[in-house]
Amino acid sequence: MRPGLRSRSKRRIRKRVPGGGSRIHYVMRRRYRATCPICGRSIGGVPRDYNIIRWGPKTAKRPERYFGGVICSNCLATVLKLSVRSASTNLRV
Ligand SMILES: [Zn+2]
Repeated sequence: MRPGLRSRSKRRIRKRVPGGGSRIHYVMRRRYRATCPICGRSIGGVPRDYNIIRWGPKTAKRPERYFGGVICSNCLATVLKLSVRSASTNLRV
């Protein structure tokens, strides 16, 4: 066994392999939870699996909208409404 896999910092999962036997897979224990800085609730569309956050494709890590993965959809709607309404009053032509 590799020295890095001897510690218990990685979780061990027994997987059935195509040949019929079973093999141990080593998975990171660390879990990630994205929270909205405005309301504090967790953000939808962001995976909790650390392996996806670390090694997955960028499109799988956050929603593809403005501030996706940074603030939640409810707060984004509120912020956009406020910014549009204040911008229309300050419009210089
Ligand atoms: Zn929020």
